[in-house]
Amino acid sequence: MLGLMQEHPLGVAAIVRHAERMHGRKTITTRTRRGLVTASFSETIARARRLASVLRSLGVGPGDRVATFSWNHQQHLEAYVAVPCMGAVLHTLNIRLFEADLAYIVEHAQDKVVIVDRSLWPQWERVAARVSCIRATIVVDDEPESPCLPGTLDYEELLSAHPETASFPDVPESHAAAMCYTSGTTGHPKGVVYSHRSTHLHTCMLGTVDALGICERDTVLAIVPMFHANAWGLPYGCLMWGADLVLPGRFMAPEALTELVVQRKVTFASGVPTIWLGMLEPLRKAKEQVRLSRIACAGSAVPPTLQRSYERELGVPIVHAWGMTETSPLVTFSKPLASHGDVSPEALERVLEKQGRAAPGVEIRIVGDDGREAPWDGKAVGEIQVRGNWIAASYYRDESSSQKFQDGWLRTGDVATIDPDGYVHLADRTKDLVKSGGEWISSVVLEGLIMGHPSVAEAAVIAVPHPRWSERPLACVVVRKGAALSKDDVIEFLRDKVAKWWLPDDVVFIEEVPKTSVGKFDKKVLRERFKDHRSS
Ligand code: ADP
Repeated sequence: MLGLMQEHPLGVAAIVRHAERMHGRKTITTRTRRGLVTASFSETIARARRLASVLRSLGVGPGDRVATFSWNHQQHLEAYVAVPCMGAVLHTLNIRLFEADLAYIVEHAQDKVVIVDRSLWPQWERVAARVSCIRATIVVDDEPESPCLPGTLDYEELLSAHPETASFPDVPESHAAAMCYTSGTTGHPKGVVYSHRSTHLHTCMLGTVDALGICERDTVLAIVPMFHANAWGLPYGCLMWGADLVLPGRFMAPEALTELVVQRKVTFASGVPTIWLGMLEPLRKAKEQVRLSRIACAGSAVPPTLQRSYERELGVPIVHAWGMTETSPLVTFSKPLASHGDVSPEALERVLEKQGRAAPGVEIRIVGDDGREAPWDGKAVGEIQVRGNWIAASYYRDESSSQKFQDGWLRTGDVATIDPDGYVHLADRTKDLVKSGGEWISSVVLEGLIMGHPSVAEAAVIAVPHPRWSERPLACVVVRKGAALSKDDVIEFLRDKVAKWWLPDDVVFIEEVPKTSVGKFDKKVLRERFKDHRSS
């Protein structure tokens, strides 16, 4: 027997229609060179309709890829609305990648039109010289008087010359809405293609209380870049749930971000741990004016001391989340359970340090080296595998990585335990684990502990080759300005916190931990730098 209910396509157009009807007066504020610029959702969506006309006039049709090379700002959001709603595919390019990778990605995706920030023109020009698929280049400029670059079209001029398209019709829900390339573990970057349906369902999930709980009463600062993993879904999340959205543009210094938090009375913000490490001090200074009710942190493990500083000193809980480009990206969230009502604050902190529990809509399991599912006892370790409606089923035009997708599950390459309550605790990425004498050591745990030392600014732990144990941990430590620290200080600090064989063989002091394009510790660079390191 069939159900007798209506069926409407789940998609971006449905989110946008709802935003326009229910939240039209809510706002998007962008920091630009000229100061803060605010527009309502209605105005922004009306401009997105014009953008759709512009793109159509440039020959963009259903399924065509429109790339963006932009910071977080209102025009980027307009592309987030216009491109999927006209049936084309929004392709956000990571502005921090090397030009050769970017050129590969643009050609692989066959992008037809690109929308580029004027401030990023020097980088883009080098990519453009290597690709042949782009038919039109639209430049977004926050300096209205500056002359148009030769061979390009000016975003604002185009918008004023084109009418609004009448409406955004529904696109079939299985069709592509957006795409984003991930670094992948081997070979070329891999294209993840989000469908209208996956985007809609992920956006619904973001508003649920045990996920990010984004709601109409929130003002959201999206620090995570719109060019990487859809800014964790926040652009669509704010439109659907009616939260005011604040976008930092290219002004990403911790002080500038803190100023936005204060000025716009931000209640929720999201960023990778390096962002929150940098903002701790400015937020401490502004404590009395901070209205944050919680923040989300994902992308790499949150150092437990950082989480405690936010909770205890600022009264702002960090929601630790986990996910990846292939998973739209969010999957797990660390929120307390009813049964935690009786536990001590310290015990609760230890629970919430974990990456959290899977949101409804996603199934999760850990699989051991023997290929069998490992028990949820908080001890057994296995690779995280996930399946669900916003999880990638394959990569775009890439046969080589079929082993990533097995029996309908995505193999994430992350290694974790899951406790009986379902909290995932990530041990490491498979490639970052230190394999010592047949056993493994979690570089993430060691880093988290070392960063708890008051004289340490940052720490990354990598595996270095060892003749007897095959690999041993090496701690690369950045000392806080004005502090002094020796190898013995670090080892002594760890001694009562980990098993003896987990203690790093050596500690090297470095100026800064190299970061990836999205601000994560770049251990590849450290591994290369210290590949011949011998412990002293
Ligand atoms: P990449 O870092 O390769 O550019 P992603 O942004 O998709 O691509 O990164 C996803 C990876 O980031 C995950 O597979 C995991 O290793 C790591 N990660 C994400 N969230 C967390 C977290 N909360 N704790 C530890 N690692 C995390």
